[in-house]
Amino acid sequence: MTRDQLTVVVAAHDEADALPLLHDRIVATIDAMADVSLDVRVLYVDDGSRDRTWDVMRDIAAGDGRVALLRLSRNFGKEAALTAGLDRVDAGAALILDADGQDPPELLPRFVAKWREGFDDVHGTRTQREGEGWLKKSTAHVFYRLMQRLSKTPIPTDTGDFRLLSPRALAALRQLRERHRFMKGLFGWIGFNSVSIPYDREARAAGESKFNFWRLWNFALEGVTSFSTAPLRLATYVGLFTAVFAFLFAIWIVGKALLFGDRVAGWPTMMSVILGLGGVQLIALGTIGEYLGRLYEESKQRPLYLVHDWYPAPMGVSSQDS
Ligand code: UDP
Ligand code: MG
Repeated sequence: MTRDQLTVVVAAHDEADALPLLHDRIVATIDAMADVSLDVRVLYVDDGSRDRTWDVMRDIAAGDGRVALLRLSRNFGKEAALTAGLDRVDAGAALILDADGQDPPELLPRFVAKWREGFDDVHGTRTQREGEGWLKKSTAHVFYRLMQRLSKTPIPTDTGDFRLLSPRALAALRQLRERHRFMKGLFGWIGFNSVSIPYDREARAAGESKFNFWRLWNFALEGVTSFSTAPLRLATYVGLFTAVFAFLFAIWIVGKALLFGDRVAGWPTMMSVILGLGGVQLIALGTIGEYLGRLYEESKQRPLYLVHDWYPAPMGVSSQDS
C-alpha cells in the first residue's frame, strides 16, 4: 500500500516557549489518528531567532525521528520562512501551522479528510479570534474586504496561512518566485479546488505577536501593491478629476477678470490651489514609487532566503540538500 505523506511546516521566530507546547499537541494529534496510510512529518523552520528557539528545535528533533529542521541565515520574515519550508517538502502534501499554537493542530485529521476528498487547498477560516484586541480584529476585517474589492485574485476573507496544500498545489506555488510574497494572495492565485474549515482562533500559547500595528500596516500595503494596481488607477482618476476641476475653475477666474477686472485679489485661492495640487501630485508620485520600488527589488533577482542549517527527518525518504 502506498502511504500518503504529509509534512507539517512551522515557521518560528523567537518561539522558544511556544514550540514545545505546540510539538506535544502535534504529536498527540498524529498518534491519536493512528492512520496507517498516512505518514506525517514535521518541519520546523527557524527564521533567524535570537532566543533559544534553535536549541529547543534541536532537542525536539533529537527525541523524535519525524522532525526535520531548517534554519535560515537571518530573520527573513514569515513569508520567506514558509517558502523555505515548503521548498523542502519534496513529497506529499504540506500543512502550514503557526508556531504559537494559534492554529490548532488538532484539526489536522479534518484537513487531511478534505484533502482525501480531492481538495487541493484546504484553509482554516477564523470564526473567532481570542486574545487579540478589537483594533487588530476590526482592521483585519476591513483589510480582507478591501483586498477582495481591489484584487482580481480571489482571496478568502478571514483566512490566514493555516492551510493544507496538495502536492500539485505545492508544485504550483513553488513556481511563484516573486520577492514580495503576499502568501494569502499567492495561495489564491494558484487556484485549484479549495475549501475552508471554520475554526476558533485561540490566543497565543506563549510569547508575543511579532506583528505590531506598523508591521501590519506595511503588510497591508504589501498585499495591495502585490495584488492590485488599483491605486495607480485611482491616481489617474484623481488627476483627471483635478484637471477637469482646474479647467472649469480657470474659465471662471479668467471670465471674472475679463468682465469685472482684476484687482490682485485671490491670494487665498492661489495658495489653496497650489497646495492642493502639490499634495495630489505627491500622493500620486508616492503611489508610483511604491510600485517602482517593488519592480526594483524584483529586478535584483536575489534568492528569497538563505539556509544556515538543514537537517532532514532521519526516518524520511529521499530528501536532498539543494
Ligand atoms: N514568524 C516568523 N518570522 C517572523 C515573524 C513571525 O516565522 O519574522 C512566525 C511566528 O513565529 C509565528 C507566525 O509567524 O509562528 C505568526 O506570527 P505571530 O504570532 O507573531 O503573528 P500573529 O498571529 O499575531 O498575526
Ligand atoms: Mg500568532
